[in-house]
Amino acid sequence: MEAIYANNLVKTFGKLRALDGLSIQIEAGDLYCLLGPNGAGKSTLIRVLIGLMRPTSGTVRIDGIDLSSGVRKVREVVGLVSEKVILYDKLSPIENLLFFASMKNIPKKKARPRILELLDRVDMLAWKDKPIRVFSTGMRQRINFIRALVHSPKIVFMDEPTIGLDPHTTRTIRNMVKELNNEGTTVVLTTHMMHEVENISSYIGIMNRGRIIANGSIDELKNTLNRGFIRLTVSGRTDVSLEDLEGFISVRRERDSLIVEVEHDTPFDRVIEGISYKNLTLLNVEHIKPSLEDVFVEMTISKSQTLDTKSSERNDQVRRKSEEM
Ligand code: ADP
Ligand code: MG
Repeated sequence: MEAIYANNLVKTFGKLRALDGLSIQIEAGDLYCLLGPNGAGKSTLIRVLIGLMRPTSGTVRIDGIDLSSGVRKVREVVGLVSEKVILYDKLSPIENLLFFASMKNIPKKKARPRILELLDRVDMLAWKDKPIRVFSTGMRQRINFIRALVHSPKIVFMDEPTIGLDPHTTRTIRNMVKELNNEGTTVVLTTHMMHEVENISSYIGIMNRGRIIANGSIDELKNTLNRGFIRLTVSGRTDVSLEDLEGFISVRRERDSLIVEVEHDTPFDRVIEGISYKNLTLLNVEHIKPSLEDVFVEMTISKSQTLDTKSSERNDQVRRKSEEM
């Protein structure tokens, strides 16, 4: 079942189209990461999806509930962890979290054991009765994180969750995100840092200028990019010239062997032929795939020119279509 469905979402701020006809589907149980540069529209998308901001146009369904008719119901099934820490300094974690639970209409009797469990899971149980004011930034952030989980939401949104966190807190939160996801919670997180997601997310959407420009698993995304190269390790005479090898990119010496890089789409028999012609022995072949960072940079920066022309063409088509209707 799909946890999140949005079709043709538009959100404008004056002339700016922060969401520019964005469509997305996220299955229940996914750990989905929205990856995009600053200003791509990630936070705006989250705000629109959880009903904190009305879209200019478009459809949203969360856990099967149409947002236009059921904002309150949607709020019950979603939780939001944002960068902003919203906690009362004079109150303890327990008092803070009980207060947020009461705003969600959860009775104290039910909220209390849940809060204790969550505090324990982020290593904060020993601090449950101390005022927030004495807490370090990392400790506040851990409380802020579980604040979004008090009502056991089915879908958790996390907007740049690890920005400015210390390593211990980052690890605690990351582990708990994985656990929550393993328990069946759908998790959507945003980041502009690729290395964050390479280990944890199951699906990725790359967002740029108000649109999802690519999505899929990490491997699928890497495969869509026509990049990468073949790395050959060869031994033999190291003074031989290799520049005329088909698909040649570079060569360097490493101990008694040569590391040669050729284009990833070079026909393999031609490579072997070239190597043996030069009386070299092939020791190893590796296909080096681009990193997620390469994919991201390629898609959001170097292709932005072509994307621009495509997007204006598409806008024209949409406009024409809507005029026809
Ligand atoms: P991201 O979270 O990917 O960095 P945002 O969703 O915050 O991007 O912003 C997308 C674009 O919309 C940016 O150009 C930003 O300046 C603009 N924007 C976001 N919120 C508002 C707002 N409330 N009023 C005007 N412009 C906004
Ligand atoms: Mg943001």
